[in-house]
Amino acid sequence: MPAKDKLLKPPFRSARGAVITALLRNEQLSRSELSETTGVSPAAITEVTQTFLQRGLLVELPSQAAGRRGRPTVQLRLQASHAYFAGISVGESDMPLVITDLRGKVLERHNLAAYGTPAELAKTTVKAFKEVLRTARIPRSKVQGVGIAVSGIVNAAEGLCRYSAALNWKNVPIAQVMARALHIPAWIDNDANAVAVGEKFFGRARDLEHFSSIVLERTIGSAHYINGMLYRGHDGSAGEIGHITIDPKGVLCRCGRNGCLDTIAGGHALRDAAKAAGLTIANMRELEELALHGNPTATRLLRVAGNALGVAVASLVQLNNPQRVLFTDMEGFGNGVFRTATRQAIENNILARFLGSTQIIFNNAEPALLPRSAASIAAFEYLDSI
Ligand SMILES: [Zn+2]
Repeated sequence: MPAKDKLLKPPFRSARGAVITALLRNEQLSRSELSETTGVSPAAITEVTQTFLQRGLLVELPSQAAGRRGRPTVQLRLQASHAYFAGISVGESDMPLVITDLRGKVLERHNLAAYGTPAELAKTTVKAFKEVLRTARIPRSKVQGVGIAVSGIVNAAEGLCRYSAALNWKNVPIAQVMARALHIPAWIDNDANAVAVGEKFFGRARDLEHFSSIVLERTIGSAHYINGMLYRGHDGSAGEIGHITIDPKGVLCRCGRNGCLDTIAGGHALRDAAKAAGLTIANMRELEELALHGNPTATRLLRVAGNALGVAVASLVQLNNPQRVLFTDMEGFGNGVFRTATRQAIENNILARFLGSTQIIFNNAEPALLPRSAASIAAFEYLDSI
């Protein structure tokens, strides 16, 4: 389990960390490019890369291209097969477990069997873990950790799920349970934080120090990187965008208050609202289809929801000044009314100077997003310990 101060210290600030960061951002770099990119002296780069080469973390690629003085330059790349990581998404209905390499590529996936208690979850995970290693032909000794993403409130420093309504968990030390069962280090975080870590190390934010990640699921989650660090708040609860009050006289939220963003724009609430309005839809894609074909109720629901989300995100942009806001669409809205309304509401509610300097990007969630993101937590902790 990680020590609390480890999670709070700025990551990757050493020469070693700078080299790793540069090589996560770039496919391959020469030693002189590494020195230029990181600001670390050529002598120190030589020393660090030599250590990493000896440990098998880096691999040398002879390059065809000539260097500045006409000599061929040797390119360096992170060796993807140097270490592997497991990632589990506990909140999802099919409960996927994946194995990724050091660069975040998913090599194998296995769904966990149904379970009752956390101990049973660990047991089914052990079985699935053996299965994925066998299928992917990865030696167990090369798996350096497991990351666990849960939908709920998490104390990452203590490896504890404080509360999860979806899982019916209260104060479950799941990282410890998993570490003992799998005999590898284990870390836990909530879905939104896991996605943000995944974006930072393997995704759309590798080159950014300041960004926000908004995850659209049954409820809405958010996480924020500020100065290159995941911002957790004083007790780990930062990012509760779903409970921003949009309409004080609105629908009762599960938190006991009224008109939270989740009650207007969360996937669960939208499905309920569509049903109450007499629409038969299985998912957000179908609601968008209805709107596309001119159904006024579907259009209204999606516009109101997108607008509410946009207003909340506009506040976020003005408070934190992120370089990029990355939306991850796990509900299947696609490129329709909801996204358009969200984007318009952001643009209408931020100061003009933020307009040109804040990138707003929507993406459909890739199938293994959450377990891959969970694995990225373990990868981050491993690389930070090198
Ligand atoms: Zn609420």
